[in-house]
Amino acid sequence: RIKLYDDHVNAFVEISEKDKVRKLAEQSGKRIRDGNKKGPLDGIPIAIKDNFCTSELKTTCASAMLKDFQSPFNATVVELLINSGAIILGKTNMDEFGMGSETIHSHFGKTRNPYHIQDLKDGARIAGGSSGGSAASVASGMCFAALGSDTGGSVRLPASYCGVVGFKPSYGRCSRWGLVAYANSLDTVGILARTVEDARLVYNVLSIYDEKDTTSIPSEIFQQDSSHIPICADNLTNIRVGVPETNFSLLVFEKSCKIDWQSYFVSELDTTIVTLWNKAIDYLNRRGATIIPVSCPSTQYALPAYYILAPAEASSNLARYDGIRYGSRCDNVTETDETLYVATRDEGFGEEVKRRIILGTYTLTEGSYLNCFLQAQKVRQLIQTDFDAVFTKANPLNGLHHTDKKAPDGVDVLITPVTISTAPKITEVTNTEGRNAVEAYVNDVMTIPASLAGIPAISIPFGISPKDGYPVGLQLLAQYGDEQRLLHVASILE
Ligand code: GLN
Repeated sequence: RIKLYDDHVNAFVEISEKDKVRKLAEQSGKRIRDGNKKGPLDGIPIAIKDNFCTSELKTTCASAMLKDFQSPFNATVVELLINSGAIILGKTNMDEFGMGSETIHSHFGKTRNPYHIQDLKDGARIAGGSSGGSAASVASGMCFAALGSDTGGSVRLPASYCGVVGFKPSYGRCSRWGLVAYANSLDTVGILARTVEDARLVYNVLSIYDEKDTTSIPSEIFQQDSSHIPICADNLTNIRVGVPETNFSLLVFEKSCKIDWQSYFVSELDTTIVTLWNKAIDYLNRRGATIIPVSCPSTQYALPAYYILAPAEASSNLARYDGIRYGSRCDNVTETDETLYVATRDEGFGEEVKRRIILGTYTLTEGSYLNCFLQAQKVRQLIQTDFDAVFTKANPLNGLHHTDKKAPDGVDVLITPVTISTAPKITEVTNTEGRNAVEAYVNDVMTIPASLAGIPAISIPFGISPKDGYPVGLQLLAQYGDEQRLLHVASILE
C-alpha cells in the first residue's frame, strides 16, 4: 500500500528498512504459530508520528531544524509498542513541531487526504493536522494503527477529515517521555485506528504509568470510581449523553474583539455536520441513552485562551534549538555570537513556527503577561470547572475529599462535532491571498476545550457529507479518567 499510494499521499517521512520489517514479520509469524505471542500487538504494523523519539529512525518533527536528528533512545510509548510485538513501519508526516491543523507546514511537503484515491492527483484535500501523516497512513490501509500527538486536536481533527478513529486519552494517561514538546501542559499521546476496538487494543498497551514522565498519573487514579454505573455490554441503558447547548459558539470573537471577526470566520457549522450530529443523538437515544442538554458557558472562550497558552509554552520549549545545544547549525556563518543563533533559527524554522514563537514571546512579556497569559490561565480553569459541573463522575484529580462531589443530574459523555466542515481542498488553504493564519486556527474550535481540560475525547467517523462525499466525524468527551465508558459509547456509535 505504501508503495502503491505514498508517492501521492506523502504520509511517511521515513520508512523502516524493508528487509528488517520482513524479518520482524517472519519472527512474529513463528512466535504466533508456536503459541508464543510476544504481546497483544505481535506482528502488527504501526506507524509513528515523527515527533516521537525512535532510536532506529530519525526524529525530525517535520522541521529543517531537526532534519538529521537521530535520537539515542525510544519514547516510552514506542518502547511499549515494540515490547508488545508491534512492527514499527516508519515515521509519519506532520505540521512542523505539531503546529497546525492541516499538515501543510512540513519540511517534507504536504500530506494529501487519501479518502478518495481518484482525487489525489487533481483537487486533493488536506488530511488535517498536525497528525495528518498518521491519519492518512491508517485511512489508506498502510498500517493497522498510528501514533499521533494531540495538543489541541491534532489526532481528532485529521481522523475526522480522513474517516478514521482518533482517540486522545486523558492528559497524563500515556507517557510523554520521548515525545518532543510543543506545549507540555497540553501535549497528549493519541491513537489513530480504523475502529474503536483497534484503538482500544493499542490504548491498553500504552496506558501505563511511567516514572520518567513527571506528569504521568498513577494508575490508581484511573481505577478509582471508574465503575460508578455498570456498563451494559451492547446497549446504552444507564448512559446519559449531554449535548452542549451553546454549540461551542464561535460568535464570542465578535463580542470580545474590536475587529470584525465575523468577516474572517465561518460563523456557522456546516449544515451537513449539524444533520449528522442530530442523527447521532437520535441513534444514541434509540440505543437506550438519555439525552440531556447541558451548558458549558466558558467553552466559548477556549479557542482564544488556547492560542495564548500553547504558543507561550512553545516559545519557551523551542528556545533550545539554537544550533549550539540542539538542532542543525547554519553553515554559512563563521561568527560564534548571536549571529549564528539568529541565522540558525531563521533557516531552521518554518513560517508558522516563527509566528507562534513571536506570539508566545509577546504574551509572556511583562506588559502583556497579566492581560493575556494570566487571563487565559483563568479561562482554562473555568473550562475545567464547567466540565466538572456537567459530568456525573467526579474528577479524580480534584482530590479524594472531592470525589463525593458529583453532579447528580450530570451526564456520562458529551457529544459534539469535531470539525466545522469536511476536509478543504489543498488549494483552498494554501492560497494565502485573502486568508490569514487566524482563519486556520478557528478549525480547532471543537477540539480545544477537551485539551484545555485534559479530559479524554474521541473522534468517530459518522457518515459522509452529501455535498462533497468526504467523511464527517463526531466527538465524544468524558470525565477525566473515564476512558472505558467513553470507548464503550464510541463503539456503539461507530
Ligand atoms: N491546530 C492546533 C495548533 O496548531 C493543535 C495542534 C496539535 O494538537 N498539535 O496548535
